[in-house]
Amino acid sequence: MSDRFSPDPLSTDVTYLKGIGPKLANSLYKLGLHTVRDVLYYEPRRYEDRRNLPKIGNLTPGAAVTVRGRVISYADRPARGGKVIVKVMIGDDTGLLDLTFFNQPWLKKSLGDYKGELVAFGVVKMGYDSLEMASPEWEKIEEEDEADEFARLVPVYGLKESVPQWLVRTAAKSAVEYFASQVKDPFPDDFRRVQKVQRLPWALRQIHFPESEEFRNKAHQRLAYDEFLGLQLKLTQQRAELGHEAGIAFPVLDRLGELRAELSQMLPFKLTNAQDRVVGEVWSDLAKPSPMNRLVQGDVGSGKTAVAAAAMLAVVRAGYQAALMAPTEILAEQHATNLHRLLTPIGIPVELLVGKLHGALKKATKARLARGVPGVVIGTHALITEDTEIPKLGLVVIDEQHRFGVLQRKALRDKAAVFPDVLVMTATPIPRTLAMAVYGDLDISVIDELPPGRTPIRTFWKPRPERDAVYRGARKFIEEGRQIYVVCPMIGDNEKVNAQAAEEVFQRLSTGIYADYTVELLHGQMKPADKEMVMERFRMGTTQVLVSTTVIEVGVDVPNASVMIIEDADRFGLAQLHQLRGRVGRGAHQSHCVLVADPTSEDGRKRMEIMVETTDGFRIADEDLKLRGPGAVAGTAQSGHVDFRFADLATDSLLLAQAQIAAREIIAQDPLLESDRWRPLRSLMAGSKIETEIAKVA
Ligand code: ADP
Ligand code: MG
Repeated sequence: MSDRFSPDPLSTDVTYLKGIGPKLANSLYKLGLHTVRDVLYYEPRRYEDRRNLPKIGNLTPGAAVTVRGRVISYADRPARGGKVIVKVMIGDDTGLLDLTFFNQPWLKKSLGDYKGELVAFGVVKMGYDSLEMASPEWEKIEEEDEADEFARLVPVYGLKESVPQWLVRTAAKSAVEYFASQVKDPFPDDFRRVQKVQRLPWALRQIHFPESEEFRNKAHQRLAYDEFLGLQLKLTQQRAELGHEAGIAFPVLDRLGELRAELSQMLPFKLTNAQDRVVGEVWSDLAKPSPMNRLVQGDVGSGKTAVAAAAMLAVVRAGYQAALMAPTEILAEQHATNLHRLLTPIGIPVELLVGKLHGALKKATKARLARGVPGVVIGTHALITEDTEIPKLGLVVIDEQHRFGVLQRKALRDKAAVFPDVLVMTATPIPRTLAMAVYGDLDISVIDELPPGRTPIRTFWKPRPERDAVYRGARKFIEEGRQIYVVCPMIGDNEKVNAQAAEEVFQRLSTGIYADYTVELLHGQMKPADKEMVMERFRMGTTQVLVSTTVIEVGVDVPNASVMIIEDADRFGLAQLHQLRGRVGRGAHQSHCVLVADPTSEDGRKRMEIMVETTDGFRIADEDLKLRGPGAVAGTAQSGHVDFRFADLATDSLLLAQAQIAAREIIAQDPLLESDRWRPLRSLMAGSKIETEIAKVA
């Protein structure tokens, strides 16, 4: 591994830590702990205050607790499939508790003859005839621990296989003792005081062996702040670099009057205040000589298309081409239809370029684009990866950000003579904090207002036994001429099984409660052409009830559909429920969404309650972040950005905002961190995972 005499003491191999030899070091390697730095930055998963442990006699089933007891007996017996079950009974002066372990044969060696004390952490449950704890975390109490550690909060680390807790603790202790004080704080003192964070060496000591809960929290704050600042410095640098890139300064400001007039001529409605503000932000970006790099967040139905159209209008009137890229061909077509309606009447050509176009047609379209005539082209992401020539490309609008990464940005750069302006639109509201972490390199606009005249969707949560009553109740709306969606959940990864489940619901409804209506089925196993026909008939209003799996999640727009019934709604995540519900409430009629669910978990109940309570996508996204964590909310492509060791986007958001402000000030003063004052901050960026994800556009 690393060399003991390396100039960086933190790179010292763990083998050289006091109390750790080559053999024990091998165990630490299993946890990914190779150097002293790894150990110092290995945050305990929790801490135990062993001064106040509950007595076994007072335990009640259901609680997650730490208990302490003397080992009374050890027994193992074979289980099915060559596995082994170990039962260790412990006791204190108030009672007995069985610890059971499934298939951990190595326990015999460490506990077979042990008659001393141990601590165990786990969930207490009622066993066959006594209380027990299944597969607890456990640890022997050695005599020396008593004197040394029991007066404090004891760190408990995440472990693997047979790596013992005491080993990590020993390594941490010696790393803290001999190395923490050698860590150089990259922050100048005055900066640290202004930012109100503790010294780094202090934080590294307190995170492992805190003197109090309060000190632990302060230590955590400092380490989380370092991570946030590292990420923000990187994103801010990237943003600054893009700012230096040569772009097109579209002549927008000197013809603002004309543009406004044309915009209101082409739109059949007046912009909402939020749309108007965002159009202003976009237009002023377009006017700048550096390329725009802006994210527009707006809930389903907030009117992002109008904003995109306004941006395209300005670019086309300046003599350039604008491209809109959608995540799927169906959505591309839908955008094309909408934009065609808006732009063609004012003389702006709109082209659709998707894979399924006929060869000759495609060729002709490409030829027209290659001529560089000012206009708009709509397609999927293939637009920029294929050989399509768009010589006067001035603006790229990207619908749904998740699939737009570094590679595409690079492709874009290769495509056009000058770097085009980029506008990313997303209907998945992302909590502010998360957006800052993931898109700190973008400017962000929010359309936080829905067009007037929408009646908010009413949402209800009903238990399964009331399902038939719900379906019967919905007949009233069909009688009034409305249409309804029935959504069946994905049961697992197997599309066939999911399709079958939807088929069953379809059979039940079409031969039962809705036998007198036209009911159709839509699922992922159907041929694309069949799917399209089913959708078309629903759009036309020939079908009254559409039973489907989540394939309708995005982009379906049938304003006459005003009721959605979601079966086993607790099987869906919040973001998905919100997207689904966005399919109704698109017309003038009062819409209803009924969640049929008997949730079995606290989380499931919570999700139903939130959906009933609010239709605000940002509120829902915030709750989602709390329930699921940032990685899941941001999507896998972005999870590297939010994969922090210490920082937690759900709880440390103020700290993140603070770090972003600081990073922007620092980069403004010293873009490349070259000064003596700021150079040390580079160390915060080195380990930052985003290096690969948003590599420099070069
Ligand atoms: P998004 O893409 O943000 O989900 P759309 O752009 O598709 O939303 O707009 C949703 C619907 O609202 C469309 O039918 C659109 O014509 C309409 N709309 C958009 N902006 C306004 C507005 N300012 N006033 C009235 N209707 C609007
Ligand atoms: Mg510009």
